[in-house]
Amino acid sequence: MNVYLLILLLCFSQLRAQENISVGLNPFENTKAFTFKTLSGTYQTKYLKISKSKQLSIKVYTGYFTIGESTQRLTSLFLKPNDKNARFTLFDSRSSHLKSSYSYQGTLTIKLEDNKLTLINTCPLPEYLSGVIQAEAGTEENTEYYKVQAIICRTYALSYLFRHKESGYNLCNTVHCQVFKGTKVYNSNITKAVKKTKDLLLVDQNAQLAHTLFHSNCGGETEYAQNVWTSEKHYLSAVKDSFCSNKTHATWTKKMPLSEVELYFHHQMGVPKHLNLSDYLKKRVDASRAPFFIEKECYDSKSLRKAFNWPSAFFKFSVENDTLQVYGKGFGHGVGLCQEGAMVMSYVGKKYREILRHYYKDTHLIRKKDLSFFQEKEDE
Ligand SMILES: [Zn+2]
Ligand SMILES: [Zn+2]
Repeated sequence: MNVYLLILLLCFSQLRAQENISVGLNPFENTKAFTFKTLSGTYQTKYLKISKSKQLSIKVYTGYFTIGESTQRLTSLFLKPNDKNARFTLFDSRSSHLKSSYSYQGTLTIKLEDNKLTLINTCPLPEYLSGVIQAEAGTEENTEYYKVQAIICRTYALSYLFRHKESGYNLCNTVHCQVFKGTKVYNSNITKAVKKTKDLLLVDQNAQLAHTLFHSNCGGETEYAQNVWTSEKHYLSAVKDSFCSNKTHATWTKKMPLSEVELYFHHQMGVPKHLNLSDYLKKRVDASRAPFFIEKECYDSKSLRKAFNWPSAFFKFSVENDTLQVYGKGFGHGVGLCQEGAMVMSYVGKKYREILRHYYKDTHLIRKKDLSFFQEKEDE
């Protein structure tokens, strides 16, 4: 059988049967040594049993790695828990992404292929979702808000199960998929929200999983998906949002020498040097994500955001002498759900269904089992 087909089938049957998800714990390319420690329960490999609180160091050499005191040269290792509540942690004092304050449930696979180290944690879907919610939304919110976050993170995860199939796992642990660092603290609001929304997914009018994008703060109005990326989704359209206006990331300002911006436009964007740039920048007196024009050329706000690392592409300018003042709104790409707006909606008593419908127009909630019913019907 084709190896990719086999991986696809394994990923899919795994999620259907046990509701487990495999997460690639990246990036480990340059990690030469790290420590595996059991926090509760015991773990087992083909070669040894790892008792509670036991620490084992994994050292990476050219073409192989070793574990603990053993000199056996390994290229892969599977660590499995002996009971379902067993937890482990990974740490390395020299690495910013390996911290002992995070714990993981489930199995750990360590692979070294072409001298590239891959770590895969396979854990129950609810455990994964709790970790993602902690990383993406913190631990200070109420259960209703976490229900919203649980549904959108579950929907997103199930939409992208095959994204990393060639690396042998479902999703990575970075912003490319969803941030997942394991569990930092036990938070009963998060656990409750994941449990209460069990199996709930957000779908569009054709019962297809919705592309549940979210961002930190929309600055008062969310953005059409097609203005940020190329694909249009009817439920990812611009929505007025008054809920986020008093939150931390609602506005921002930046001050910079005009010469720095001129350099960017003349050298990176090819704007002719004889044009007086400030005359064009001054025209943006209302904050907007719209592209702006210099002569007949169109320059999009996203490129400027990226070039100067601004929090959003939603801004206006003023020019005073040799200084450019940027007044910005929001934080993030602005498409889909505004997290800070949704948080405020939950504080004022709005329920998760209403919050989801506010940001994702004309979407529906569906149980996972019903989704397969619709999709199977469509395949006939
Ligand atoms: Zn990814
Ligand atoms: Zn907002």
